[in-house]
Amino acid sequence: MEPIYTIQHIAALLKAVPFLGNSSAVIDNLVIDSRTVIDPDGSLFFALSAQRNGHEYLKDAYEHGIRNFVISDKKYTTLFKDSNFLWVENVQLALQQLAKYNRERFKIPVLAITGSNGKTMVKEWLYQLLANDYNIVRSPKSYNSQIGVPLSLWQMNEAHTLAIFEAGVSKNGEMQALAEIIQPTVGILTNIGEAHAEGFSSSKEKLLEKLKLFAGAELFIYAPEYTQGLQEKDLPGKIKFSWSTSHHADLKILFVEPIDDKNYIRAAYKGSEIECLIPFRDKASVENGIICWATLLALGYHPEEADQRLEKLTRISMRLELKTGINQCSIIDDSYSADISSLAIALDFLNLQNQQLKKTLILSDLYETGKSNDALYEEIASLIRQKHLNRLIGIGPSISEFARFFDLETKFYSSTQAFIDDFPGQHFNNETILVKGARKFEFERISKLLTQKIHDTVMEIDLNALSSNLRFYKSKLRPGVKVMAMVKAFSYGSGSFEIANVLQYHKVDYLTVAYADEGIALRKTGITMPIMVMSPEPSAFEAIVKYKLEPELYNLDILKGFISFLPDHEYEYPVHLKIDTGMHRLGFEETEIGDLLSILKVADSIKVMSVFSHLVGSDDEQHDEFTHHQINRFLNITKTIAAELGYSFIRHIANTSAITRFPDAQLDMVRIGIGLYGFDSALSPHKGLHTVATLKTTVTQVKNLNPTDTVGYGRKGALPEGGTIATVKIGYADGYRREFGQGVGKMLIRGKLVPTIGSICMDMCMLDVTGLDVKIGDEVIVFNDQLTISDLAKQINTIPYEILTNISQRVKRIYFYE
Ligand SMILES: *Cc1c(COP(=O)(O)O)cnc(C)c1O
Repeated sequence: MEPIYTIQHIAALLKAVPFLGNSSAVIDNLVIDSRTVIDPDGSLFFALSAQRNGHEYLKDAYEHGIRNFVISDKKYTTLFKDSNFLWVENVQLALQQLAKYNRERFKIPVLAITGSNGKTMVKEWLYQLLANDYNIVRSPKSYNSQIGVPLSLWQMNEAHTLAIFEAGVSKNGEMQALAEIIQPTVGILTNIGEAHAEGFSSSKEKLLEKLKLFAGAELFIYAPEYTQGLQEKDLPGKIKFSWSTSHHADLKILFVEPIDDKNYIRAAYKGSEIECLIPFRDKASVENGIICWATLLALGYHPEEADQRLEKLTRISMRLELKTGINQCSIIDDSYSADISSLAIALDFLNLQNQQLKKTLILSDLYETGKSNDALYEEIASLIRQKHLNRLIGIGPSISEFARFFDLETKFYSSTQAFIDDFPGQHFNNETILVKGARKFEFERISKLLTQKIHDTVMEIDLNALSSNLRFYKSKLRPGVKVMAMVKAFSYGSGSFEIANVLQYHKVDYLTVAYADEGIALRKTGITMPIMVMSPEPSAFEAIVKYKLEPELYNLDILKGFISFLPDHEYEYPVHLKIDTGMHRLGFEETEIGDLLSILKVADSIKVMSVFSHLVGSDDEQHDEFTHHQINRFLNITKTIAAELGYSFIRHIANTSAITRFPDAQLDMVRIGIGLYGFDSALSPHKGLHTVATLKTTVTQVKNLNPTDTVGYGRKGALPEGGTIATVKIGYADGYRREFGQGVGKMLIRGKLVPTIGSICMDMCMLDVTGLDVKIGDEVIVFNDQLTISDLAKQINTIPYEILTNISQRVKRIYFYE
């Protein structure tokens, strides 16, 4: 078969100006992230500038073997001789045009899903429900953006008989572009909540924007609850199918009744009553289940058939989790979807981990409709080869049958049980392990063996939110201003290499830790970028130099000490100078600058990379005058130093809040700390920043209390009317301070805020859950994006910094990334 996408064809399609070093190249893959290359030969890299300047990654991409590039900056057209450059005005638009072309090659039903919540769940469930009847192409994970949608559409090929894509917009005007490239034949509207309301002037505007996606659709499936304010004639779709709990509708929900962990639903449909069982208990799953139900009926499935399929829905987890494993391993647990595209995504995540050199994949048989096993395992083998894995453990009869395809260290087992039986004799040590298997292999049994035993309280860290916060601040910076990211105190309690890894990828300029030990730990896990150490004790000088860490020198003693420590041959070792402009903690006083300079002028073993100072109240209007005074003082001092030193250095004084409140103080670099983790008291809540950390625990016991009973040490808690309490596994040793006792602290159970009762114990505390249907094992939120760290800080009269950094190291951190 003639290849469709030769580089020349693509150049013509995009009306690009070609600069071709190899005009016979054929393109199979589109790549937007230089790390995620599956098949470099057939990959076309788009230097997008939506989030980062993609042109900064051309070299990385080249080093990963990519030779084809779409760029918008003409100066790069001849960067590499053996490569192809397609120069276009707008790289994102080019990506979309190519996707649109691919979409238009196929005349299959295309289901498109939009809404504020539930898109990915509905998409994945429709996939589960329809996979028997179609060969389906769908958006990988939640690829629903201006960039994710084109990448999803690019996957469409001749083998597919149905497509399911999700589309999301964050501001007015974006949907038109997605509608033109997806061209849905069926439109499905999910829950319209408050999410992403920021980019719109009203909720009606938001709704109208979303509905643009379906302008050309044959069939539109929706709930009138979510289209309020619109006339029926304003709704898209030649045929409409509605579902509702309160309005007249094609599928009129009569009642929803919980039965154990399921929900039984009855509805009126075409003049009779029908039923279904949704195998979940939570509200969102029930609603998304009903949307899937409506879709099956609208597509013509018999109610009985629909019920049978819905009952088998399985929970999906849309994220990859990174956990601490046994014997210094890291475990990536991903056993919800077992197809090639999700395997590729998970392998990319595996490759982002630098903390262990060795990379192992534990993989079950995969099921990919429309492909022979031969072709499937051939493709998996080539994927694994490109990803440079060290070891494969294959589980299942099919993968074992194709053992010969894999040319790395391998071991095969016929079943999960066989692997588990053999577990005691296996060696897992200091490696990153991706555990990926189809549902029925129950790989959660394997991840349980591999992960460290935990205590049920976990802090989840959302690495996407962290990246997005970094982007937010970068967008507030003046051109050319550098970024130093503060990862001291275990990244404000949020982790270490996991966070540093993300920041290194995003090309932050510096990382800063408090102590040398923290810096050494980062170096040992593959962090190669510059790291500043704020408290470099003389006993750590040797390690600092050995690991190429850059000390902050803050007085004459430490300056002299470091210079005399350095061997004679050392030349221009990078150091940073801290100036005290009003904090009165560490730093050179104005009166010491003369002495400082006379030492620096003759010390060529060190080089001053930066000079900085710290603001004491940049978040608080009441201190603005003092802040200006600090900034001016700093500018004067750096002027003196620059004049005497004879070379230039980076000047920085702004911390998180100063970035937006004192843009003039951004100078050459800013130091972002708490803002990365989602807090900035200079900004109103929910404006631009995303919550990074969620602390969760579980209910271990539920008890009914009589009016005369008391709760906990010192008999401090009581329910005079009687009631119910739940014991949860978090106490002051985990960082949930004693001040939260006696009802001061609140937690969320099943969406309801409940107060503590009695004193907080060392490892546990009790909650008053009177009147709520709470069970052992229920999840309890200590803080998240709704019950925020700022709320907790207010409850006990402290600051978010302290709440975050107090969370004990014994609370497991789980990192995820969508
Ligand atoms: C911690 C720290 C910061 C970061 O402050 P945030 O308010 O968290 O942004 C900046 N500079 C220095 C010297 C710090 O110690």
